[in-house]
Amino acid sequence: MNSRRHFLHKLSASLIALPAFSGRELNEIQLLNEKAYEGPVLRVAILGLGSYGTRVADAMKTCTRAKLVGAVSGTPSKIKDWQTKYGIPEKNCYNYENFDQIKNNPDIDAVYIITPNSLHAPFAIRTAKAGKHVICEKPMALNAKEGMTMIAACKAANVKLLVGYRVHFEPKTLEIIRMRNEGELGKVMFFQGLCGFRIGDPSQWRLNKALAGGGSMMDIGIYAINGSRYLVGEEPVWVTAQETKTDPVKFKEGVDETITFQLGFPSGVIASCLSTYSMNNLDRFYLNCEKGWAEMQPSTGYGPIKARTNKGELTHTHVTHQTVQMDEMSDIILGGKQPLVPVDGEEGLKDLKIIDAIFMAVKTGKKESLSL
Ligand code: NAD
Repeated sequence: MNSRRHFLHKLSASLIALPAFSGRELNEIQLLNEKAYEGPVLRVAILGLGSYGTRVADAMKTCTRAKLVGAVSGTPSKIKDWQTKYGIPEKNCYNYENFDQIKNNPDIDAVYIITPNSLHAPFAIRTAKAGKHVICEKPMALNAKEGMTMIAACKAANVKLLVGYRVHFEPKTLEIIRMRNEGELGKVMFFQGLCGFRIGDPSQWRLNKALAGGGSMMDIGIYAINGSRYLVGEEPVWVTAQETKTDPVKFKEGVDETITFQLGFPSGVIASCLSTYSMNNLDRFYLNCEKGWAEMQPSTGYGPIKARTNKGELTHTHVTHQTVQMDEMSDIILGGKQPLVPVDGEEGLKDLKIIDAIFMAVKTGKKESLSL
């Protein structure tokens, strides 16, 4: 390590001990770090330039191991705006018709799909066929069957498939998982996950079954499913579920407003969860264990995440989730890194299998078994 890098390394380490840097100082440190980084950089095109795509693009400005280099959209004016805002060259811009030509572009490594859910699978398959790595937003697809076709397409093309599970890299989440893994909390006994918000505009794609694949469960309930799996540390073997609908005009057939569901795990742990589009201030995880407990609220929002355990409040510095996610995904794709909590296609597929089973349990009223 040269002396400048050694200094930066020490400076980064001191951040943990000295949390009193100003925002400007932190930015300067970030810039110095960026200049110091000499390793591989994942060059990413974003497909779907909506509100979350914009959030990811903004967050990528401070990435060191990933860089936004391309844009794909059905709306020419958005491409122009993004070119100006993010310095994207014309040769790295595509529309949905000429997108397949991306295969001839040696300057793009991966495409990050951030469209309505029904477009994830078709664009992921086109991306794989173009020989580019696929990063896809959650839910990975509309159902498990579709998810499996994405996995198969990426395998056949020998490209990676990752899902935008940003909280899998969130420091407080990882600390609770560490405490559980190292036995500090004792045996896990129970999990509760409450996820929801009051949805507005009834004409948005999130309330359109064909585009969203469902309602609250596909969008926000998936966080409770995923969270139960990474906090309990097991895969569920059965599910029961109940649906309630107070507004059948806004929440049409196949678009769930509120679903309560329970997941059973091999050790006997039960997860009790709520997914809703009609209640605010629901972003809470609670893990009860034999020797202690962990509570996160907010648990999956953009942050800062708040978390405490029986030992006290967790004080890890807030990080921009999408910045860390994209740097980590660069390490996974280009360096073969194995994250503590997976973000690959198989991980996305497990959540889809559980969602399929929840919808089935709502219909049958019975306990549905799961085989993940
Ligand atoms: P959005 O409506 O703001 O953006 C969607 C984009 O897709 C728009 O640019 C729109 O023009 C484009 N699009 C292409 N075809 C479309 C069609 N047929 N109908 C409607 N729009 C179309 O949505 P968003 O909030 O950015 O969500 C996009 C994806 O990102 C979803 O899958 C969502 O679940 C996911 N998301 C993830 C997070 C997260 O924290 N990981 C947060 C928000 C959204």
